[in-house]
Amino acid sequence: MKIIGNCTLITLNKFIPFVSDGAVLEDEGLIVEVGETKVLRELYPHVEFLNMNGKIVLAGFLNAHMHLYSTFARGFGFGGASPRNFLEILKNIWWKLDKNLTTEEEIYFSALVPLIEGIKSGTTSIIDHHASFGLIDGSLDILENALLKTGVRGVLAYEVSDRWGSDLAQKSIAENVRFIKKAKNSPNKNFISASFGLHASLTLSDKTLDSCAENENKLGSGFHVHVAEGIEDVDDSMKKSGKRVLERLNDFGILGDKTLAIHCVHVNDKEIHLLKETNTMVVYNPESNMNNAVGVPPTIEIDNEGITIGLGTDGYTPSMLESIKVAYILPKFNYHDPRVGGDLAKRMLFENNSKIFSNFFEHPLGIIKKGSYADLVAFDYYPPTPINEDNFFGHLIFGLRENSLNTVIINGDVVMKNHELQKIDEKEVMSKAREIAKKFWEKM
Ligand SMILES: [Zn+2]
Repeated sequence: MKIIGNCTLITLNKFIPFVSDGAVLEDEGLIVEVGETKVLRELYPHVEFLNMNGKIVLAGFLNAHMHLYSTFARGFGFGGASPRNFLEILKNIWWKLDKNLTTEEEIYFSALVPLIEGIKSGTTSIIDHHASFGLIDGSLDILENALLKTGVRGVLAYEVSDRWGSDLAQKSIAENVRFIKKAKNSPNKNFISASFGLHASLTLSDKTLDSCAENENKLGSGFHVHVAEGIEDVDDSMKKSGKRVLERLNDFGILGDKTLAIHCVHVNDKEIHLLKETNTMVVYNPESNMNNAVGVPPTIEIDNEGITIGLGTDGYTPSMLESIKVAYILPKFNYHDPRVGGDLAKRMLFENNSKIFSNFFEHPLGIIKKGSYADLVAFDYYPPTPINEDNFFGHLIFGLRENSLNTVIINGDVVMKNHELQKIDEKEVMSKAREIAKKFWEKM
């Protein structure tokens, strides 16, 4: 049990949204009480006190779509001409990379790097979408080990695809089924959860989709699938089925209230209604969409329909602070209207991501309230203008930067203090990762 206090606390909890001399009482990984430092210290005089020295404290950020396996692409040239479109990006970069991930070491260190960088930018939980077609069996256990090593919470899934043939598609289905069952009975349930991963309609045959649906039906895990990210996905779906992507997936029972539809860049009004009807959740990854030049999702229309739309990074960056800053400005640029997107960005990062993660964990995340996980991030930020519950988001967008993130607490444990990771040697991991990456690049 400990009191984390002497901070400006932004809780997002409507009962006590803002406490200028705030503190939380933590016990066994959960928040037990929220209030003023003086009051909590008087009530619990013998409890350990963690002094935040006036820092701004928020709930840890949640990344609703990530690819930990993407690390070794960083700085790799991939040779030849630059990919000209989304399909070439997939074929020339990502599928080449995932087929060459063949060892436990490669997968483990690919994961450790962005987990560390995530902590250093305030991310305390992630929903990951994994591919390593050179080593499928047990690959999710390797990611689980990396999560447990760093202390970050994670929801894991393996992306089923027919792009490497039906044998590997079947192996990928088996990996999802095995790991979902394992996660359900895990002693680490507060840290590890699972979903059923699917790559995207364009690399999934009718037969494989049927098999996935049949297996998921027995597990009730929901799916984690890329949807209409590039126009190529729509064209392929029309060719295969005469239907658009979400209509095709819905025919196989892929949509539903536990399913995450990632991107939804090229969806029409009818498909947006379908998301609403099936209570499917959407995840927006603005930087990735811009980098792949696939377009901008109709986030405002999706939100207006009352669909839960959260925020991720798609492996483009491990930093949710980066992602939220782009999520905030991109709709303004896209809709040519400075009024749109700001309020939605705030709800995506906090309220909607919190809602999405609550499907996978027993206790609330992304909010500071009694009963939620004690996952906190503390910034050395001394506001140059007044700050309160109504305007803190303006401070977050225009004032908070990663280099001012000082302390990260997950499950009540301090995982970063004064910018230094406490559970893992960052320099040693990066040095080992560089060695492994060098050999991995030779294979590519
Ligand atoms: Zn993705």
